[in-house]
Amino acid sequence: MKREILVREAMRTKILTCSPSDTVQEVAKKMRKERVGSSVVMSKGKPVGILTESDILEKVVAEGRDASKTKVEEVMSTPLLTIDPYTAIEDAMKVMSKHNVRRLPVVEKGKLIGIITEKDLFRISPTLIEMSKEWSLIEGGIPAPSTQVSISGKCEGCGRLSTDLREVDGRFLCEDCREG
Ligand SMILES: [Zn+2]
Repeated sequence: MKREILVREAMRTKILTCSPSDTVQEVAKKMRKERVGSSVVMSKGKPVGILTESDILEKVVAEGRDASKTKVEEVMSTPLLTIDPYTAIEDAMKVMSKHNVRRLPVVEKGKLIGIITEKDLFRISPTLIEMSKEWSLIEGGIPAPSTQVSISGKCEGCGRLSTDLREVDGRFLCEDCREG
Protein backbone atom coordinates (compact mmCIF):
# COMPACT_ATOMS: atom_id res chain seq x y z
CA MET A 1 0.00 0.00 0.00
CA LYS A 2 1.13 3.47 -0.83
CA ARG A 3 2.19 5.49 2.18
CA GLU A 4 -0.12 8.37 2.93
CA ILE A 5 1.28 11.88 2.80
CA LEU A 6 0.51 13.82 5.94
CA VAL A 7 -0.48 17.45 6.24
CA ARG A 8 2.72 18.21 8.16
CA GLU A 9 4.80 17.13 5.15
CA ALA A 10 2.80 19.23 2.72
CA MET A 11 2.19 22.39 4.73
CA ARG A 12 3.97 25.69 4.45
CA THR A 13 5.60 26.73 7.68
CA LYS A 14 6.02 30.36 6.71
CA ILE A 15 2.77 31.91 7.86
CA LEU A 16 1.76 35.53 7.69
CA THR A 17 -0.23 36.48 10.76
CA CYS A 18 -2.02 39.64 11.77
CA SER A 19 -4.10 40.96 14.62
CA PRO A 20 -7.88 41.63 14.57
CA SER A 21 -7.24 45.35 15.05
CA ASP A 22 -4.81 45.75 12.12
CA THR A 23 -6.21 47.61 9.12
CA VAL A 24 -6.95 45.70 5.95
CA GLN A 25 -4.58 47.98 4.08
CA GLU A 26 -1.63 47.16 6.37
CA VAL A 27 -2.24 43.44 6.00
CA ALA A 28 -2.82 43.62 2.24
CA LYS A 29 0.55 45.33 1.85
CA LYS A 30 2.25 42.54 3.82
CA MET A 31 0.44 39.90 1.77
CA ARG A 32 1.72 41.50 -1.43
CA LYS A 33 5.25 41.77 -0.07
CA GLU A 34 5.33 38.14 1.11
CA ARG A 35 3.42 36.94 -1.98
CA VAL A 36 0.80 35.05 0.01
CA GLY A 37 -2.95 34.91 -0.50
CA SER A 38 -4.00 35.04 3.11
CA SER A 39 -3.11 36.06 6.64
CA VAL A 40 -4.10 34.13 9.77
CA VAL A 41 -5.70 36.38 12.38
CA MET A 42 -4.28 35.74 15.85
CA SER A 43 -5.68 36.81 19.19
CA LYS A 44 -3.83 36.00 22.44
CA GLY A 45 -1.66 33.51 20.57
CA LYS A 46 -4.59 31.65 19.07
CA PRO A 47 -5.84 31.62 15.49
CA VAL A 48 -9.36 33.11 15.43
CA GLY A 49 -9.94 33.85 11.77
CA ILE A 50 -8.32 34.31 8.39
CA LEU A 51 -8.17 37.24 6.00
CA THR A 52 -8.00 36.11 2.38
CA GLU A 53 -7.72 37.86 -0.96
CA SER A 54 -11.41 37.09 -1.57
CA ASP A 55 -12.40 38.69 1.75
CA ILE A 56 -10.56 41.84 0.68
CA LEU A 57 -12.07 41.83 -2.81
CA GLU A 58 -15.63 40.95 -1.84
CA LYS A 59 -16.05 42.69 1.50
CA VAL A 60 -13.82 45.74 1.10
CA VAL A 61 -13.14 46.61 -2.55
CA ALA A 62 -16.52 45.58 -4.00
CA GLU A 63 -18.37 47.24 -1.11
CA GLY A 64 -16.47 50.49 -1.61
CA ARG A 65 -15.00 50.44 1.91
CA ASP A 66 -11.83 52.28 2.79
CA ALA A 67 -9.16 49.63 3.40
CA SER A 68 -7.13 52.03 5.54
CA LYS A 69 -10.10 52.45 7.90
CA THR A 70 -11.43 48.89 7.87
CA LYS A 71 -10.20 46.59 10.61
CA VAL A 72 -9.33 42.98 9.90
CA GLU A 73 -11.91 41.72 12.41
CA GLU A 74 -14.73 43.40 10.47
CA VAL A 75 -14.12 41.43 7.29
CA MET A 76 -12.13 38.30 8.20
CA SER A 77 -13.56 34.82 7.61
CA THR A 78 -14.60 33.29 10.91
CA PRO A 79 -15.11 30.82 12.51
CA LEU A 80 -11.92 29.27 11.26
CA LEU A 81 -11.41 25.61 10.49
CA THR A 82 -8.01 24.27 11.47
CA ILE A 83 -6.50 20.86 10.94
CA ASP A 84 -4.19 18.51 12.80
CA PRO A 85 -0.72 18.03 11.24
CA TYR A 86 -1.03 14.23 11.34
CA THR A 87 -4.04 14.17 9.02
CA ALA A 88 -3.60 12.51 5.61
CA ILE A 89 -3.68 15.08 2.80
CA GLU A 90 -6.58 13.24 1.19
CA ASP A 91 -8.62 13.85 4.35
CA ALA A 92 -7.53 17.49 4.42
CA MET A 93 -8.79 17.79 0.84
CA LYS A 94 -12.11 16.27 1.89
CA VAL A 95 -12.44 18.85 4.65
CA MET A 96 -11.76 21.66 2.16
CA SER A 97 -14.28 20.28 -0.34
CA LYS A 98 -16.92 19.74 2.32
CA HIS A 99 -16.58 23.20 3.84
CA ASN A 100 -15.79 24.99 0.60
CA VAL A 101 -12.51 26.51 1.79
CA ARG A 102 -9.22 26.65 -0.08
CA ARG A 103 -6.84 26.72 2.85
CA LEU A 104 -6.54 25.32 6.35
CA PRO A 105 -4.23 26.58 9.10
CA VAL A 106 -2.44 23.68 10.79
CA VAL A 107 -2.63 23.62 14.58
CA GLU A 108 -0.78 21.28 16.93
CA LYS A 109 -1.60 21.43 20.66
CA GLY A 110 -3.26 24.80 20.24
CA LYS A 111 -0.28 26.27 18.40
CA LEU A 112 -0.32 27.47 14.82
CA ILE A 113 2.51 25.64 13.02
CA GLY A 114 1.67 25.96 9.34
CA ILE A 115 -0.90 26.39 6.61
CA ILE A 116 -2.01 24.11 3.83
CA THR A 117 -3.68 25.30 0.64
CA GLU A 118 -5.71 23.53 -2.01
CA LYS A 119 -3.13 24.64 -4.56
CA ASP A 120 -0.29 23.00 -2.59
CA LEU A 121 -2.25 19.76 -2.30
CA PHE A 122 -2.99 19.65 -6.03
CA ARG A 123 0.68 20.23 -6.78
CA ILE A 124 1.83 17.47 -4.42
CA SER A 125 -0.81 14.99 -5.46
CA PRO A 126 -2.36 15.69 -8.87
CA THR A 127 -4.74 12.72 -8.47
CA LEU A 128 -6.51 14.76 -5.78
CA ILE A 129 -7.79 17.08 -8.53
CA GLU A 130 -9.71 14.20 -10.12
CA MET A 131 -10.83 12.90 -6.75
CA SER A 132 -12.20 16.25 -5.64
CA LYS A 133 -14.12 16.56 -8.92
CA GLU A 134 -15.74 13.20 -8.22
CA TRP A 135 -16.55 14.19 -4.63
CA SER A 136 -18.31 17.33 -5.83
CA LEU A 137 -20.67 15.16 -7.90
CA ILE A 138 -21.77 13.07 -4.93
CA GLU A 139 -25.19 14.17 -3.79
CA GLY A 140 -25.20 15.62 -0.28
CA GLY A 141 -21.41 15.85 -0.37
CA ILE A 142 -18.77 13.50 0.93
CA PRO A 143 -18.40 12.67 4.60
CA ALA A 144 -15.44 14.65 5.89
CA PRO A 145 -13.39 13.48 8.87
CA SER A 146 -14.30 15.57 11.90
CA THR A 147 -11.87 14.28 14.50
CA GLN A 148 -8.81 16.01 13.09
CA VAL A 149 -10.58 19.30 12.48
CA SER A 150 -11.08 22.09 15.00
CA ILE A 151 -13.12 25.21 14.66
CA SER A 152 -11.71 28.39 16.23
CA GLY A 153 -13.28 31.77 16.69
CA LYS A 154 -15.75 33.64 18.83
CA CYS A 155 -18.24 31.52 20.75
CA GLU A 156 -21.76 32.59 19.78
CA GLY A 157 -22.92 31.81 23.30
CA CYS A 158 -20.53 33.61 25.64
CA GLY A 159 -18.50 35.64 23.15
CA ARG A 160 -15.16 34.26 24.33
CA LEU A 161 -12.50 33.14 21.89
CA SER A 162 -12.15 29.40 21.69
CA THR A 163 -10.14 26.93 19.63
CA ASP A 164 -12.74 24.23 20.22
CA LEU A 165 -16.03 25.46 18.78
CA ARG A 166 -18.69 23.00 17.63
CA GLU A 167 -21.81 23.69 15.65
CA VAL A 168 -24.92 23.15 17.77
CA ASP A 169 -28.26 23.96 16.12
CA GLY A 170 -26.58 26.36 13.71
CA ARG A 171 -24.58 28.23 16.37
CA PHE A 172 -20.87 27.84 17.03
CA LEU A 173 -20.39 27.18 20.74
CA CYS A 174 -17.40 26.66 23.05
CA GLU A 175 -17.03 23.64 25.31
CA ASP A 176 -18.57 25.38 28.34
CA CYS A 177 -21.61 26.62 26.44
CA ARG A 178 -22.19 23.21 24.85
CA GLU A 179 -22.41 21.63 28.28
CA GLY A 180 -24.54 24.35 29.84
ZN1 LIG B 1 -19.15 29.91 25.08
